[in-house]
Amino acid sequence: MIRETLPVGLLQCNCTILGDETSREAIVIDPGDDIPVIQGILKRHRLTVKFIVITHAHIDHIAGAQSLKRLTGAPIVYNENDLPLVKMMDVQASWLHMPTPEVAPPDAPLKDAQVISIPGISGTVLHTPGHTQGSICLYVPDHSLLLAGDTLFAGSVGRTDLPGGDGRQLIRSIHDRLLPLPDETTVVPGHGPETTIGEEREENPFLQTS
Ligand SMILES: [Zn+2]
Repeated sequence: MIRETLPVGLLQCNCTILGDETSREAIVIDPGDDIPVIQGILKRHRLTVKFIVITHAHIDHIAGAQSLKRLTGAPIVYNENDLPLVKMMDVQASWLHMPTPEVAPPDAPLKDAQVISIPGISGTVLHTPGHTQGSICLYVPDHSLLLAGDTLFAGSVGRTDLPGGDGRQLIRSIHDRLLPLPDETTVVPGHGPETTIGEEREENPFLQTS
């Protein structure tokens, strides 16, 4: 599998490109910004984008999705519980003092347990509300990989003080849906360095019980 993870935009959101070497098909997760750079990587690997997956509808994760869709024709998929955040994109833009990006409802909604597949790569959607109500993680078991969005970070967890955030629900989502995954699973968070499930279960101060 080809995997390229690059921080994009003002808030350095981790955008990930997953590609299959044989079919040259790809899934792009969270193309928040810097679409020309993402397009350059796709070109270098000769990849055709089949899905644009958004882990949640915060501006730094979704802002570039429409322009990538325009360039590739790929559908944008995300959980509909984040539609209220899409409707307040102008407010989100004002938080960052940036122009309001073009956003739209998903071409197809992402539901828990749904599988997003291209040849050689299958990702299962884990609905993990808490950071936002529509937050999802994409688990790719055959490649021991979790795209965690802003739910889980190396040594930290997502903030829950923004609209739609719920701290108790976030911790419950991580305990119930993410910590049961195998220790060796590589976690690519929405921002910052990569980690593993085993490391976070052992050491993340937000996840220690008693
Ligand atoms: Zn976020």
